[in-house]
Amino acid sequence: MKILMVTDPQMCSECENCINACKKTYGVARARKTDTIPIFCVQCHPDKAPCRRICPNDAIETIDGEDDEILKVNEENCILCKLCMIACPIGIISIDKEKKSAEKCTLCLESDNIIPACVEACKDNVLNVFSIEDLQELKNDENLTEELQEAIKTFKSIS
Ligand code: SF4
Ligand code: SF4
Repeated sequence: MKILMVTDPQMCSECENCINACKKTYGVARARKTDTIPIFCVQCHPDKAPCRRICPNDAIETIDGEDDEILKVNEENCILCKLCMIACPIGIISIDKEKKSAEKCTLCLESDNIIPACVEACKDNVLNVFSIEDLQELKNDENLTEELQEAIKTFKSIS
């Protein structure tokens, strides 16, 4: 089941709780703040993700045993060439200096968190996780904000 995170930037109070929660969970934040709002990996389709396609050592792979199509960095294969950081269109790949590896968001699917740490930490309801099936239903909801509708359109165009 494909899972993705949809953000509603208009609701953001710029408290950075999401980024701090990510950093607390993984040691390095896998999201970053722009001048205004935080941005997150948009979970490109595994066959199209620029970070995966450019990696010379096949270090970016889908999470083992899961049919979720979310990519993670395999620390053992990462040679820290940083090409993925250049290739990612939103510059969201970070470096874990201790592990000597690139790091990317996995929506916490490789941890014990049922809800991603950032989503749980956000008190402004900016962040939400959906399955594709959820989104199909949401598309018909007239109460959706324009931003959320726009986010859904963007996701559909890259997936
Ligand atoms: S830094 Fe690591 S994950 Fe990124 S492209 Fe290089 S080997 Fe691949
Ligand atoms: S790290 Fe960048 S290129 Fe890779 S899946 Fe996320 S948004 Fe796409």
